[in-house]
Amino acid sequence: MIDEIKIFNRDLNTIRSELEANKPYEACGVLIGIMDGGTALVEKALPITNSKRTVKSFELDPNEHYRAWNEAEKNGREIVGVYHTHPVSSAVPSLWDRETMQNDAFVWLIAGTDGIRAYVWDNGLKPVKLTEY
Ligand SMILES: [Zn+2]
Repeated sequence: MIDEIKIFNRDLNTIRSELEANKPYEACGVLIGIMDGGTALVEKALPITNSKRTVKSFELDPNEHYRAWNEAEKNGREIVGVYHTHPVSSAVPSLWDRETMQNDAFVWLIAGTDGIRAYVWDNGLKPVKLTEY
């Protein structure tokens, strides 16, 4: 069970600028790093094209997603989380997010109009402590 995510200030800034740059559409990407017990240590936030390009959902472009996964694997890293943005709503998972999260074991980081928060689905929606460093 993941209860904390640690992420560099630099990567949070990447996500914030992606939010701005893709308005009014949602932006998305993967969080690459390593798992240390219940902590996800993010080394890099990597933007990925939102192939859905809508204002209230996202889909990681499958080719870019695969390349990111492959690259992480080669370097002994893994995809520890996925981020996406809510350009016009708060950093709370939407109904669509909640349904999609149930198939994922990793952290969901959401950047909304009121800041950045992280969650995981573990028999229900659980908040994940976000530590910036
Ligand atoms: Zn969402």
